[in-house]
Amino acid sequence: MNCYIHVPFCAAKCGYCAFYSEAGAGKELVEAYLRRLEQDLSADIVHCETVYVGGGTPTYLDCSQLERLCKLIHRYLPSDENTELSIEANPESLTEEKVALLRQYFTRLSMGVQSFDAMSRERIGRRCSQEKLLDALDLVRRAGFPHWNCDLIYSLPGQTAAMWEQDLRMAAECGADHISCYALTPEENSRLGATFDEDDERETEFYQLAEQVLDKYGIHRYEISNYARRGCGCRHNLNVWRGGLLRGYGPAAAGFDGFIRRIEVESLNGWLNGAPPEVDEIPLPERLNEIFAVNLRTVDGWDEAAWQRVENSDRWENRLKIAEKLQKSFPGQVSTSGGRIKLTPEGLLFWNTIAQEIIYGD
Ligand code: SF4
Repeated sequence: MNCYIHVPFCAAKCGYCAFYSEAGAGKELVEAYLRRLEQDLSADIVHCETVYVGGGTPTYLDCSQLERLCKLIHRYLPSDENTELSIEANPESLTEEKVALLRQYFTRLSMGVQSFDAMSRERIGRRCSQEKLLDALDLVRRAGFPHWNCDLIYSLPGQTAAMWEQDLRMAAECGADHISCYALTPEENSRLGATFDEDDERETEFYQLAEQVLDKYGIHRYEISNYARRGCGCRHNLNVWRGGLLRGYGPAAAGFDGFIRRIEVESLNGWLNGAPPEVDEIPLPERLNEIFAVNLRTVDGWDEAAWQRVENSDRWENRLKIAEKLQKSFPGQVSTSGGRIKLTPEGLLFWNTIAQEIIYGD
């Protein structure tokens, strides 16, 4: 089982953010969240292959709240030496004490750097000073997490290709074995959304630059937005992209039981007051197409064994037929060689269109 815990708190909302979180919540609200989380976790104890704690900003919690969260996970989501336990952290709220605590409980830390350029961070509403960012990275490096990730955003206002290259180099040189690179896509109603002009050409240029630069450091693209040293990909995400079973805890968290996706209500108060999750009951053939499309975001795509591991999957031959049809519609963008269905480097650039065809085409 893969488990996701959503921690719905942030110090303040960033100017582009689409994730659900409450800004500046007080101690009582955090305590109420932890109490309800314990109820949900204790209702059904499951052994986990992966646990991912995201947000929001999990490190917004103070040290004693964070310790409570760690203990809840340890108690109710039993793990073994092979379990991947990941948590997201923001540099501005990370302290030496918190890093030491997280190192005891987690095997992987994901740091929200976004940019090493202080001005670029400020333009998107990230409040961390340069000094604090470098100190936090140093703490994480010295703590010796088996794996850690640096999150970067590109196509930032005022960012040149040279600035993006510098961000990539700094991320690769700071010791992370995993780097996530997302194009800035502000929510329409966010502060940045009103003024942001999307530039597809620039986005493509920066996307390609990321691969060129990181390859030289031995950090390779394994999914459209994710790069890692060999064997250091995020197992939680890989499992979820491949249609693995998922339990979601906390407001806005999604879960999947092999048939149905459940999404907890996107409201802390609603969730605390027992509002039911939204149930997304699309028929199995459509769900399978969705899973098939999502994992085509990965460089390796599908082989028969991976497809057969999907709960209730159909025959591999059906998938090959779909792939062959896609090859006609998208020449040069879909490969079926070597017993594997995957997108070519050019196809990855058009994943959105290909996914739409898989999910909504006939
Ligand atoms: S980007 Fe991260 S820190 Fe900023 S508001 Fe969203 S979840 Fe919070």
